[in-house]
Amino acid sequence: MPTLSDVIGLLEGWYPPHTAEDWDAVGLTCGDPASDVRRILLAVDPVLAVADEARAFDADLVVTHHPLFLRATHGVAATTPKGRLVHQLITNGCALYTAHTNADAPADGVSESLALALGLVDPEPLEPNARGPLDKIVVFAPRDSAPAIRAALTDVGAGAIGDYDSCSFSTPGEGRFRPLDGAQPTIGAVGELETVEEVRIEAVLARELRSAVVTAMLAAHPYEEPAYDVIELATLDDLTSGSGRIGRLEKPLSLKEFADRVAGVLPTTAQGVRVAGDPARRVETVALCGGAGDFLLDRARAAGADVYLTSDLRHHPASESREYGGPALVDVAHWAAEWTWLPVLQRKLATALGDTVETRVSATNTDPWTFHVAGRD
Ligand SMILES: [Zn+2]
Repeated sequence: MPTLSDVIGLLEGWYPPHTAEDWDAVGLTCGDPASDVRRILLAVDPVLAVADEARAFDADLVVTHHPLFLRATHGVAATTPKGRLVHQLITNGCALYTAHTNADAPADGVSESLALALGLVDPEPLEPNARGPLDKIVVFAPRDSAPAIRAALTDVGAGAIGDYDSCSFSTPGEGRFRPLDGAQPTIGAVGELETVEEVRIEAVLARELRSAVVTAMLAAHPYEEPAYDVIELATLDDLTSGSGRIGRLEKPLSLKEFADRVAGVLPTTAQGVRVAGDPARRVETVALCGGAGDFLLDRARAAGADVYLTSDLRHHPASESREYGGPALVDVAHWAAEWTWLPVLQRKLATALGDTVETRVSATNTDPWTFHVAGRD
C-alpha cells in the first residue's frame, strides 16, 4: 500500500511544484507523509461539502486544484469555514494536497484536459512556456583523451536531450600551439610550434550546470591550458507546456454546434454556456484556457482562433476583443472547465497505483453559482 509520500512523489513528478506561479500556494496542506493511502478523492475546490464527501468515502487523501489557503494564515481554529474544514479532515485522518498553477500548463494538465475533452486534435500551448535555458560546451582535446572527456561531461549531466543522455558530437581536426617560457606542456616542447591530432567535442547542457560541467571538463582534460567555448543557446518554446491550448476540431462546426458540444461535455452548471458571436459562424480552430483566461484574449486573436473558450470573462476585455475582430467567445463556469482535469488525474493515478488504491472524482458540484434567470421574453 502506498504512503502519502509515495502519492505526493507521483503528483510532483507530473506537476512539479516549482513550476507554480510565485503567488500560488501548492502542495500538502495537512496530512502525515508517512500515513497509508487507500482511497483518494479528487475535487476542484477544498470546501466543506467536499470534506463531507471525503468522510463518506473514507478517503485518506483529497487532491484539489484550488488551494485552501492562498494568503497568510495565522490559525486554523474551527471557528471559520476553512479552519473547520482542516479540523474535519484531520479528525478523519484525511490529507489535503493541492496542484494549482503547476497543474495548468503541463501535458495532462487542466487546459490540455479541457482541450481533449472537447475533441481538439493535436492541441498545443496557446502561450508556450520557454524551455529551460541551455548552454553548449565545445572542447578541443587530443584524440586519445576524448573518451574520458566525453564521460566527464556526461557524468555531471551534460548531453541530456529529452529522453536521451550521453549526447555529444565529435569532429577530428588539427590543433596548434607553441608553449612559451614557464609552460609545462603535456605534448610538445617550450618554444616549438606543435601540431596535434585533436577532436572537437560538443555537448549541450542546462545552464544551471555550467560551472559543474566546466570544472569536470577541466579535471579530465590533459592539457595545462585547455581550449574550450561555452555558448549560450537561443531560448526556444516548449511545445508541451504553457498557458491555454489551441487546436483544430476534426470537422468544422457552426458556433452553435460547438456551444452544444461544450454543454454536452462539461458538467451541468447554473450558468450554462454563454456565447458571443454569430451562431452560424464556422468554427475550426479553437483556443481555450481552463480557469480565468482573460489574459489570453489577445493571444487567441493573434493565433487566428475562430473561437476562444474560457471562464470568468469580464465585460470590458470581452467587449474590446469583439470590437477588434477577435474570435467568437464561449464563457463556461470556472468549476466546470477545471473539472475536466479530474478524470485525467484519476486515470494517471489508477495507472500508477493499480488497484492498491481506490480513486474517485468528486460528485459534488462546487460551482458557487446555483441558479440562472434568462430574462424577460
Ligand atoms: Zn481555477
